[in-house]
Amino acid sequence: MTRKPYTRILLKVSGEVLMGEKPFGIDLETVGRIADEIITCADRGAQVALVIGGGNIFRGLAGAAKGMDRVAADHMGIMATVMNALAMQGVLKSKGRDARVLSAIAMPTVCETYSASKGIHHLEAGRIVICAAGTGLPFFTTDTGAALRACELQCDALFKGTSVDGVYSADPKSDPSAKRFEHITFSEILSRDLRIMDPAAIALARDNGIPVVVFSIRTPGAVADVLNGGGRFTTVTKD
Ligand code: UDP
Repeated sequence: MTRKPYTRILLKVSGEVLMGEKPFGIDLETVGRIADEIITCADRGAQVALVIGGGNIFRGLAGAAKGMDRVAADHMGIMATVMNALAMQGVLKSKGRDARVLSAIAMPTVCETYSASKGIHHLEAGRIVICAAGTGLPFFTTDTGAALRACELQCDALFKGTSVDGVYSADPKSDPSAKRFEHITFSEILSRDLRIMDPAAIALARDNGIPVVVFSIRTPGAVADVLNGGGRFTTVTKD
């Protein structure tokens, strides 16, 4: 069965991807590489919304583990996602593309405040939309933010770029016998406790019929390949 082409996608990349080979922070060359991937998809007619994590700068749980108040620590993580979003916006603009950061936390002197209608408007106008600040709430993750935005922005799929080329039965880096799935259901992900995204994100995608496509963002050209139905990936759906 051939599937309908994806015309509007939500791409989630973790903050760590932006580090490139660095141990911390933002490597602008790597941001440029991801930006080029997004531009290729846009040139092929896809509307692209993006959610970038903040783990290359700060994670709330790490602060809480050292005794910080979790809410304040998560706010720092949320700010980290805004820094990453601004870096991506800047690089996309330097490449001649119109991109807009929409933040879940209002910071009107820095970027626009997120709303679904604004996001859809920018996508329809051919702009790349970068959803920053996750859900805007502590105790959540950017995976959940990505699933939420994919629902709100009426995306055809949530593309989850990871460091491996799909969903495996175990961690393929530590277990060579791990089996890779071409397709798996949301229920199996939850019942097997396969940690590709947190359970809240999986439940949101499942309940709103958004397929999740898991692939390696480290493979050059992967996003456009997957968009065309090529390359290596795992599709996660309801049935
Ligand atoms: N965060 C949050 N609420 C959200 C999204 C993110 O509090 O809705 C905070 C949380 O502290 C998290 C940090 O931002 O650890 C960075 O996000 P995440 O860990 O999802 O980034 P990634 O692992 O994808 O780089």
